[in-house]
Amino acid sequence: MAGVLGIDVGGSNFRIGLFDQEGHRLDLSEGKTDSSGGRDWMLSEIRQRSLSLIEKAELQVKACGISFGGPVDYDQQQVSSMHVSGWQGFKLARWVKEHLNLDCLVDNDANAGALGEFRYGAGRGTHSIVYITISTGIGGGVVCEGKLLHGRDSLAGELGHIPMSVAGAVCSCGGQGCLETFCSGTAIALRGRGLAKRKPAVLARTIELSSGDPDKITAETLFQAATEGEKGAVFIVREAAQWLARGLLMVIRILNPDRIILGGGVALAGKRLLDPLHEYLDILSIPMLQYSTEIALAELGNYSPLYGAAALGWELV
Ligand SMILES: [Zn+2]
Repeated sequence: MAGVLGIDVGGSNFRIGLFDQEGHRLDLSEGKTDSSGGRDWMLSEIRQRSLSLIEKAELQVKACGISFGGPVDYDQQQVSSMHVSGWQGFKLARWVKEHLNLDCLVDNDANAGALGEFRYGAGRGTHSIVYITISTGIGGGVVCEGKLLHGRDSLAGELGHIPMSVAGAVCSCGGQGCLETFCSGTAIALRGRGLAKRKPAVLARTIELSSGDPDKITAETLFQAATEGEKGAVFIVREAAQWLARGLLMVIRILNPDRIILGGGVALAGKRLLDPLHEYLDILSIPMLQYSTEIALAELGNYSPLYGAAALGWELV
C-alpha cells in the first residue's frame, strides 16, 4: 500500500503527517515553530521527523505535499517569508527531493487549506468551493472543478485584499480598506478597543472578559459578550458580519461556487457569526440573481492545510 507525507509549515506550529489514499491520517509529528531558528532550524526538524515517520511507516511513502505559511511562487515551487529569515526565494520542493528523496508539491497555506477541505472536509462531494480563513488576517483559496486556481502570479484567492472602501484603514499589504481591515480578528479586536475607550459603558462585559483591560479585547471576547447580549459587542460583531457579507457576495457573483467554507479562529464563533452573516447576505442579494451557494464552516479546524498538503502529495502519485 502507498502513502504520502503532508507537511504544514506555519508561523506558530508545524506538523508532519502520514496519510493513506483515502485521507486517513496514520501518524503525526508536530511542534511549535521556533521563528528565531530561521529556515535552517525548520528544515532540520522537517528532515529528522519526516525520516522517522518514513522509517516507521507500514506503507511505502511515495510523495510529499507541503503547505507553507507565506508567499509561494507555485510555478517555480519557491517560497518566501516576511517574518522568518532564510526563506527568501527558497526552492522547497527541490530541497525535499534532495534530502528526503520524495517528489514534492508546495503551495501556500490558504490554498492548501482549500484543497484539504475540498477533498477531506466540508467541501466533499462538491465541484467548486471557495475557502476563506479568517484569523489575524484573511486568506483564501479557490478550488474550481476540482482544481486549485493559482492565477498568473500565484495570487488567485487573495480575498483578504479585495478593496472594499477607501474609507477603510491601511492594510498589512499597504493598500487601503481591504476586506481584512474590516473583519479579520485583528480588525474586530481593534474596533472593540476603540469603542471601549470612547464608551466603556457599552462594552463593560467585554472589558470584564478581557481581564478588565480594554487593550486586551479580542475578537473572541467580543463574540462571547455578544452571545450574552451586550449591545456594544453585538454592534461590532454585526458590523464585521456586514462587511464579510459584502465580500462573500462578491465571491458569489464572480465564481458562484457550490460552497463557501469559512475557517480560522474567527469562524470558530460559529452561529454567532453565521446568523448575522446570512441576515446581511439576504438583505444584499436580489431575487433576480438568486444563488444557491452554501456557506459552511470548515471541518478540519487547524488541520485543513495539513490535509491539503497530503492531497498535494497525492497529485504526484
Ligand atoms: Zn490588503
